[in-house]
Amino acid sequence: MAVGFDASFEAGNGLFAGSGGDWVAFAADRRTGPRAMWFYFHLSSIHADAVTCTMVNPAECLGGAQSYTAARPVYSYDGTRWFRATSARVDEERGEFKFSIPTPREDVWVAHCYPYTLTDVYALADRVAASPHACAEVLCRSGGGRDVPLLCIGEGAERFIWLCARSHAAETPGAFVLEGMVNRLLQDAPEPSYVRETATVYVVPAIDPDGVSSGAYGKDQAPVDFNRDYVGPSVHPEVAAVRERVKSLCATSRLALYLDSHAPCVHEHNFVLMPRKRLLGLDSLGREAAFCAELERRSPALCPLRADACAESSYMGDAERSSKDYFAAEYGCLSLTVESSYNRTAAGNYTTPDGLRALGAAVTDTCAEYLRTGDV
Ligand SMILES: [Zn+2]
Repeated sequence: MAVGFDASFEAGNGLFAGSGGDWVAFAADRRTGPRAMWFYFHLSSIHADAVTCTMVNPAECLGGAQSYTAARPVYSYDGTRWFRATSARVDEERGEFKFSIPTPREDVWVAHCYPYTLTDVYALADRVAASPHACAEVLCRSGGGRDVPLLCIGEGAERFIWLCARSHAAETPGAFVLEGMVNRLLQDAPEPSYVRETATVYVVPAIDPDGVSSGAYGKDQAPVDFNRDYVGPSVHPEVAAVRERVKSLCATSRLALYLDSHAPCVHEHNFVLMPRKRLLGLDSLGREAAFCAELERRSPALCPLRADACAESSYMGDAERSSKDYFAAEYGCLSLTVESSYNRTAAGNYTTPDGLRALGAAVTDTCAEYLRTGDV
């Protein structure tokens, strides 16, 4: 009996390409983008000890097929507890990526990396809204009519921080890092207390709820990438709403820091992308580099971030300006993209939700240090 395949559920993604008694072949669906990456599907009717999964289009993905040598997809028997595949390889001749998962049960969920669904995003918003230190509102409706939550943490009136995630909907490591930042911001400890007392933190945990819900990867998607929608009038109502809110807040406060949480190519470790110096008319990125050095110092052993991996964006043209370039140029604030790994860290271990959240907590503490010592 052939293994059954289904990806028609929240955040599901995968094009069925065949199956047998102990194998399944699939493609990651690129939807409206030029590249694929995200997959998340359910296998059923399994009567074998293990199933070999063959991804037929790794060459279509960011980083190309070679980057998959480091990839270890995740699987779950209950949709809640996830495990890393331990056996995987790239078949260069056939241009395929193969991995094996143990199947003691008849069904299993399989994903590119730990899922973080829109249901999870809304649960985070509800939890934050219940905190005495925070509130939540709806920033706007998405193009598809979904709520875009905006979380507000802290009481500082003179300056604010803006945090964003899911410009590229499937970059779920960035969602866990953002959740770790938020969790830390709500704690009663010196660093988060300092942030809350001297600033207000605004958080958009999913700027593309439609893509998060549908299981789109999102990078370079049509008609325009969410993170390239800051040049001229915005196409996406979500991006327009962010720009409008930041602008109106700046009438009475100042933007001290913008952080956008992403995930990089399949094989890359954690790092930070800094804005292009040319866009800012700067000779150096001293405060950006200092932030990265402090973040390296504070980053957890479980999920380290190395300052020497942090780099200036390589974008060439204005059309490639990202949100961090926009906020840096428009408001003169420290503006960074945190890229958190789907797979390996610089220490060689594989990321976990807890490790990514711990990295997020370190980002929050680094923000506190920046607010305390920077000229902001
Ligand atoms: Zn991204």
